[in-house]
Amino acid sequence: MESVFERMEREHTEYKVDMFRVKQQLPYEIKKKYAAMKAWQFQKECWQKGYNYHVSVGGLDSITLYLFLLSIGIPDLKAVSVSSLEDKSIRKIHRALNIECLKPSLRPDGTRWTKAKILQEFGFPVLSKEIAAKIELLQNPSEDNKTVRHAIITGETGAYGGFQKSSRMKLSQIWLEKFGGYENDNEGVNYQKPDFLVSSKCCYYLKEKPCDDWAKEHNSVPYLGLMASEGGRRAKALMMHGCNYFGKSAIRSAPFAIFSRNDILRLALEMNDWYQLHYSEYGFSPLESTIPDIYGTIEQNQKGELYTTGAKRTGCDICGFGVHMEKRPNRFDLLKERNPKAWEYWMFNVCHDDKGSPYGWAKVLDYIGVGYDWQDGKMIGTDGQMTLF
Ligand code: SF4
Repeated sequence: MESVFERMEREHTEYKVDMFRVKQQLPYEIKKKYAAMKAWQFQKECWQKGYNYHVSVGGLDSITLYLFLLSIGIPDLKAVSVSSLEDKSIRKIHRALNIECLKPSLRPDGTRWTKAKILQEFGFPVLSKEIAAKIELLQNPSEDNKTVRHAIITGETGAYGGFQKSSRMKLSQIWLEKFGGYENDNEGVNYQKPDFLVSSKCCYYLKEKPCDDWAKEHNSVPYLGLMASEGGRRAKALMMHGCNYFGKSAIRSAPFAIFSRNDILRLALEMNDWYQLHYSEYGFSPLESTIPDIYGTIEQNQKGELYTTGAKRTGCDICGFGVHMEKRPNRFDLLKERNPKAWEYWMFNVCHDDKGSPYGWAKVLDYIGVGYDWQDGKMIGTDGQMTLF
């Protein structure tokens, strides 16, 4: 069997990654032209191959992508979103842009998946999608995933992984200590394990599957607002395959693949200006700004870098991905300020254990050492006392 290293050599991985990094260093205006060129190339190839194309819209990045593609004249462009999962300020923009709303996917019992049902049945999306997927494997052991579980604990891979001793499959020590306990007996280690489930399936059932199903039904392939600079599991694939990818199992365009956060925020501001001049030509509704309120405004710091004064990330408000890296007030603190009742429910009542006692995000956040509560403007939690608002 071909090992990971042999495959990397065959696919010229190192060269492709180096070339991609060079493109990431290009000036903004050139990157913007490059993104437009890639978007047009994708459109033409789709047209030749008989595919329709669409934008899967969520937060600021993909709203910016949709407007950008319209602004460069990509014809017959559709936009879809599982809008109901987004913050209300994002939903407002989706409505103004006439984006088609999709529902979360169906469960075997005929009802729709909701965030609460996902937490109850699969577990909590916490840390990152990659880490959650590893913990989920540890929590669901089988003969088939034995080798992967061994790699998650020890970093040792089998023949397919090139017999590495410390592969990236290994969970970092801090999370091994907290979640590695499922393999104590098999590996002769002494780690802890939590009394809640972790899962990476949330996005799949709530967002990805509905969009994939819609795409199949409409013979359509997506433009995505992904950037390699955001890291995560998709960064490597973007570097390997570049902006446009027509693979056997996936077809997609990510025109912003080489963009930095600064680039996307700069383009978001430009697209807002564009929208104010052109919205009526597309039958869209007037908006004060195409930057959803949840992000605050886009400002420049002393180093000349752009940043959002509100939320930094896209995604749902009740999501644990990345929360361990967020400064306080974090998304859970902010939820308490916006909607204390919802906060109470998600923190303490969304799930029930075997004895029927309620629990929620508070249990998960306590376990990983993230604060989530405040009173009288003072933060309560592991990070000490600090004025929040
Ligand atoms: S962003 Fe988080 S909460 Fe929202 S669907 Fe994805 S995993 Fe679930």
